[in-house]
Amino acid sequence: MARGANDDGLILAALGSGSKGNATYVGDGRTGVLIDCGLSTRQIRRRMAAVGLAEAPIDAVLVTHEHGDHVAAAAILARDHRRRTGRALPFYMTAGTRGALPARVVPEAVETVPAGASFEIGSLVVGCVPVPHDTADPVAWWVESAGRRAGVITDLGRPTSVVRALLGTLHACVLEFNHDLDMLLGGPYTWPLKQRVRSSHGHLSNEQAAGLLAETLHPGLRHVLLGHLSEENNRPEVALVAAARVVEEAGAAGEVRLGLAPQREPAAPVRVGA
Ligand SMILES: [Zn+2]
Ligand SMILES: [Zn+2]
Repeated sequence: MARGANDDGLILAALGSGSKGNATYVGDGRTGVLIDCGLSTRQIRRRMAAVGLAEAPIDAVLVTHEHGDHVAAAAILARDHRRRTGRALPFYMTAGTRGALPARVVPEAVETVPAGASFEIGSLVVGCVPVPHDTADPVAWWVESAGRRAGVITDLGRPTSVVRALLGTLHACVLEFNHDLDMLLGGPYTWPLKQRVRSSHGHLSNEQAAGLLAETLHPGLRHVLLGHLSEENNRPEVALVAAARVVEEAGAAGEVRLGLAPQREPAAPVRVGA
């Protein structure tokens, strides 16, 4: 359990989301973590500053999997942190992800954890669950402070019972709405790439993500940011309509706020429990 009361609430800031780079900041004012670092270090710093988080602490990086759009900045971010603070920045990931990291991105300090682990980082409790994706041992991470919990659920080919259970505990999340199936099948990708994206170890379609949301919608869930949208095979308005339909059908239109986690700019941070 998280320790003590917290006046700041839990902030989730999607700094960038999509196949060109992913990073999300989650923190409670005392402790903060990045979930993934697939944007450049400069972009991570710039985008944090752009949403009022220039001074927010980064105490660790939680890595979901070894794809470049999630880990590309790891080594440089670690060196930048060392130069600024004189300390190593710990990167948490599964042993499978560690083993599959390209040598050039391996950061100074790696802590390996099993998928399913949870542990404390400062005032936060963090944890991860396995997801089906075409990498060594991918996970989705959640972050909790004083009973408020945020998570990032992207890069998975299908919803699983573990993912449903996780989503049922979150107050704010980035949820993958990767592609519209018709746009994917009629779009420019090669057939093998289309098959990879739509496979059970690829990415969630709008329809799959909306179905997952419908199954797991609960009164505590206040913010859903639609993330990892394909720039070729999706459109923000199409994804938003799919999600909005679920929320309206559940009669939760006034309670759940939907937004986008864009690729090219940071989303406005969402805050739970302030
Ligand atoms: Zn990705
Ligand atoms: Zn991936």
